Order: sequence, then C-alpha cells, then structure tokens
Amino acid sequence: MHSPMTPRDIAPLCFPCVKSGGPIIIAGPCSAETEWQTLETARALHTMGIGIFRAGVWKPRTRPGGFEGAGNQALEWLQAVKRETGMLIATEVATVDHVTAALDAGIDILWVGARTCANPFAMQDIADRLQGHHEVTVLVKNPLNPDLDLWIGAMQRLCNAGITRLGAVHRGFSTAAHHIYRNDPQWHIPFELRRYAPNMTILCDPSHIGGQREYVEPLSQIALDMTFDGLMIESHCDPDNALSDSAQQVTPDQLRSILNRLVVRSGTNADDELSLMRQQIDDCDHELLAVLARRMSVSRKIGQFKKNNNLRVVQPARYQEMINARLVEGGELGLSSEFTQRVMEAIHEESVRQQLEMDKNQ
Ligand code: PEP
Ligand code: MN
Repeated sequence: MHSPMTPRDIAPLCFPCVKSGGPIIIAGPCSAETEWQTLETARALHTMGIGIFRAGVWKPRTRPGGFEGAGNQALEWLQAVKRETGMLIATEVATVDHVTAALDAGIDILWVGARTCANPFAMQDIADRLQGHHEVTVLVKNPLNPDLDLWIGAMQRLCNAGITRLGAVHRGFSTAAHHIYRNDPQWHIPFELRRYAPNMTILCDPSHIGGQREYVEPLSQIALDMTFDGLMIESHCDPDNALSDSAQQVTPDQLRSILNRLVVRSGTNADDELSLMRQQIDDCDHELLAVLARRMSVSRKIGQFKKNNNLRVVQPARYQEMINARLVEGGELGLSSEFTQRVMEAIHEESVRQQLEMDKNQ
C-alpha cells in the first residue's frame, strides 16, 4: 500500500483563467447578499479580467443575529455568475451539508474558513465528505490561532481523503497583541508553510488581515513581495452597504486601480528572506507603539486618580521600585541594564509629562 500524499507533496494549482506565472486573483464579496448584488459585482470583476469569483453563502458569525448568509438560494446566484461570465466560482464550506450542497451546485473551489480549520472534528467530517471528489479545488485558510501544525493537520486530513487540488490562504491570526490590523499577519507562519510545502499554492487574503479597505493595497504588495502565489480580495459593488465586512471591501473599480499599481517582482529567495525579516521588525515596532500608547493611557488614568485624591504626580519610592523590578526582568530577557534603564526612564518621563499636562489642562 502506498502512503497517502502529505501537504508537502502538493503541486501548484493551475487555473486556465490565470496567466501562467501570474498571481492568482480571486475576488468577490464577503457574502452573496442578493442575486442582483452578486451578478452586478461579478460582471464588473469579469470585465476587468478576474477569472475566479468568491462569495460567502453561509457566514460564520461571532454572535448570532448578524447576517448569516443567504444560504442555499445563493448557490443559484453563483451558478448564474458561472453561466453568464464563465468565471470559476468559490465559496466557504463549514459543514458536511455545505459540502454536499456546494458539490451538487457545481462550485469549482471550496474554501475552509479560519474557524473551521481550527476544529479537527469539523475538518475530518469535511474531508470524509470530499472523499472521491478529485475534481474540486479546496483552499484551507489558516486557523484563527497562530498554529502552523493545526493548519498543516487540516490539509493532511484532506490529502488523506485523496484531495490533491489543494492550496492555502493566509488571512492573519487572532492574537492578544494589539495591532493596526484586524488580524495579526505573523508573516513567518505562512513563510514556514512555504518552507514545508515548497510547491503548494499559498494565497494571501489582505482583506481579512487588514480589516480596513486602505490596508488592502499595502498588504497585497507585501504578499507579492514575499512571493505568495496570489490574492483573495473582497470586492462588493456597494461596500458601504455590505451586510458583512463592510469596512474592508473595495469596489471592483477600486480593485482595478489597486491591481494596476501592484508590482510583481521576480524575487529571489534572499529577497524573500530579507523582506520577511524586515516585516517582522515592522510588526514588532507596530506592537511596541501600540503597547506604549496603552501604557500612556493607563498613566493618564492614574494621573486623574492622583489629582482627585490630592496625591503628588511623582512618587520617588514607587519609581525606584519599578525601575529595579524592570532591570531584573530585562536582564532575564537578555537586555542590558543600561538599555533597560534608558528605555524605562524615557517612558517614565513621558508618563509624568502627560500627567502634568493633564493637570494644566484641567
Ligand atoms: C471570508 O472569507 O469571508 C471569511 C469568513 O474568512 P475567514 O474564515 O478568513 O474569516
Ligand atoms: Mn469576509
């Protein structure tokens, strides 16, 4: 008996509608809301040369009561898109029933969302249902938590079921770190996946990483610079009135301009590696600034409390105690005491300045 394929052996995805070597672009609304909105958006995207249309039919909502997708009827709208434009159609599946309905409707590309990918039971059910369906392409979004093994495990379950038209989508992670983005990109994780599965198609979803439409272009450029194989971008004919993910969707026209401005470079591994490391530095700096801003806001709250209780702004004993504790912690983390001292002094100085400033303004 030969052993099953592993995600490591997966070959690149080819689509007749994508120029060979060119980035794979999948675009379409977060959700198919009405037949009109679905077709209107698809027609515009088709006219600008996009060959693969995405739209959510069943939407995983954090809390009940939000728009949960139009359900099975939306599959007919996707079929209409395919009939009229010839685009390939893609939707998210999260349960066995979704897979059955999507296969019956002739959906070309199924994707497994971040919440489902994180659940091995759900992944196994989906994989079992897909057994024997070699014609379908399956994309696996990364799990919500930054766990490469879980991501690879989800793909392994699909490989075990004989699915070889397989690809991955990086959509960022839910982490505790406050970030300018909706989801923390943690670029090293898809990069590790690339190392593990060198030929697998890995796409980037800048819409769900950024969470705001102005981040779609810069994140797409980073993704292309890091040699992702393509992009999945949310596009809606009327984003401001979208029923889900309104802030991050762009109109087809905006998408056209974004795509026209993106530069596809012929990168080498060295460029790739360097841009990854630089990206990690940028990510750390964003985090540092966000943490500093949070610290200052706590300082201002303390300032208010001191003022209300007639306490002095600077309390030398507390200051010395804090510095000493930080020097020990810094030392344990491999930071020199001179450096820790300088950084903590600068932070403390700014805290005091902000507290005094507050005093003046009141
Ligand atoms: C989506 O693509 O609309 C979606 C819900 O994605 P994710 O699973 O990445 O949140
Ligand atoms: Mn969405």
